[in-house]
Amino acid sequence: MPQYEPPRDHYQVLGVSRDATSDELKAAFRKLASQHHPDRNPDDPTASLRFREIATSYNVLRDPGRRAMYDRVGHVAEQSGSPFGEGGPFAGGVIDLSQLEIDGILGDLLGVFGIGKRDRGDIQRELRITLEEAAFGCEKQVTYERTAPCGPCNGTGAADGASRATCPQCEGRGRIAMARGLGPLTAERGCTRCRGMGTISVKSCASCAGNGVAVSPHTIRATLPRGVEDGASHVVPAAGNTSRVDRPAGDLLLTIRVESHPVFQRIGDDVSCRVPISFTQATLGGVVDVTTLEGVEKLRIPSGTQPGAVLRIRGKGVPHRHAAGRGDQRVEIAVEIPTSLSPSQRDAVEQLAREMGEVVVPQRRTFIDKVRALFE
Ligand SMILES: [Zn+2]
Ligand SMILES: [Zn+2]
Repeated sequence: MPQYEPPRDHYQVLGVSRDATSDELKAAFRKLASQHHPDRNPDDPTASLRFREIATSYNVLRDPGRRAMYDRVGHVAEQSGSPFGEGGPFAGGVIDLSQLEIDGILGDLLGVFGIGKRDRGDIQRELRITLEEAAFGCEKQVTYERTAPCGPCNGTGAADGASRATCPQCEGRGRIAMARGLGPLTAERGCTRCRGMGTISVKSCASCAGNGVAVSPHTIRATLPRGVEDGASHVVPAAGNTSRVDRPAGDLLLTIRVESHPVFQRIGDDVSCRVPISFTQATLGGVVDVTTLEGVEKLRIPSGTQPGAVLRIRGKGVPHRHAAGRGDQRVEIAVEIPTSLSPSQRDAVEQLAREMGEVVVPQRRTFIDKVRALFE
């Protein structure tokens, strides 16, 4: 069962006195942040929590407005519904990024401060598919774990049949008035104890310990369009985590990974492959079987085809994502030179060479044959 720990005092977290100057705060933060950075403590699973706590405390105290509010009302100032909390009129404050770049941890800090993205319960997963699936579209089943409203208690957090009592924290109102303190500003926030419902159950649900949400496996079917590319994103709305029963579920964000193919390489919407042909096919021309994304095709080889030549089979590549039609299949020709010839084949090639005006060097052949004979 998760233990609730009240947040520690921000001054205590940074180890400074309540009248610390901004320079003292900064120095304390720099020291602690580099000490507790998760990269430096790979074997300590609590390091990232500690790091986050340090960053959060510093972010509150370094901002004079938020610090004053914190001094006045404590952690309530930072809770949701607070004018300084997420969604409030003074959310975030102003952050001078140049002050935060310490040992390259800027990216972590951005994450900690929620800049750019907020944790809405989104889940990120990779989805591996084959090149054929990417080309022609597919429906994939994805199973993953997510936090969802608890089944046994239907998200209420109450044990079956348990009676409910008025929430002692908000006295049944579901909302709590914020401390006054900023001139005309007053604010209310949702009661965290009863999650705005005004009542709490007398006995907690055993499955979710009264949280109303629990982790469970979930399976979805994702339909991917034809022509989808490696690295593309696919969003399944509302398939992410439900962090609180009174909040909507986040999304499942799938990053598509197209596995490497034994035959083809993808170049945009073209696919490329290498096909070996014989020395005589290259010289005289012919027809060869070529594997395509959908089976085998006949490809005509023109006479005099050079090694490395690229022939195209039109329309046998990947279907275009946003237009009709398909890319091509590029066939790179590799010419295989025979490594052993029968005596009569050798005579024929020598004959050809002489007719093409080339000088034939029979000594070499004789020498090699002599060497070979030694081992036979
Ligand atoms: Zn309440
Ligand atoms: Zn439950």
